[in-house]
Amino acid sequence: MNQVQTKIALTLGDITKQGDVEVIVNAANKSLLGGGGVDGAIHKAAGPQLLAECRQLNGCQTGQAKITGAYNLPNKYVIHTVGPIWNGGAHGEADLLAACYENSLRLAQKTGLKTIAFPAISTGIYRYPLEEASQIALATVQAFVKANPGAFELIKFVLFDQAALDCYYRKLGGLQVEL
Ligand code: ADP
Repeated sequence: MNQVQTKIALTLGDITKQGDVEVIVNAANKSLLGGGGVDGAIHKAAGPQLLAECRQLNGCQTGQAKITGAYNLPNKYVIHTVGPIWNGGAHGEADLLAACYENSLRLAQKTGLKTIAFPAISTGIYRYPLEEASQIALATVQAFVKANPGAFELIKFVLFDQAALDCYYRKLGGLQVEL
């Protein structure tokens, strides 16, 4: 069987400027009505129609994901997922963060999308430690790729600063050895 390999890429930059993917993932909050960080940047770049569509969605639970159009963004869709707020790590945060990646990938796959970009969900305003969050992000995505070979052509992590990019590089190296 000749399956397309999934490329997992890391890049430094702004998630609102990733024209090579069909869908970008928003680290939203439960209201889905906009906020700071990635969420603010996405709404600003997409324009007011995104907020209008989000108002129809009735919010989103932590760990779940919902899809909308991308309007003025250079993508087809935005998947909005709600990461957990870090509260010491003993409150189900790891499972909820993994669910964000898993449910976003499932929703993208169900929509027929092959290329997707993620920010580092929960690592900003929600204070999830980058070391743990990056490990969960990469391990969850790699497990999904292994279980669904060929489902995606490109899965990209868009990191906003060099420290985050370095952290993902280190983790990705370790994970690839394990495969
Ligand atoms: P959360 O509330 O889930 O923590 P934030 O938006 O506050 O979400 O931050 C998530 C991560 O996204 C942080 O690491 C932050 O540095 C990064 N970030 C902020 N703006 C952007 C952007 N425009 N593109 C990509 N990443 C961004």
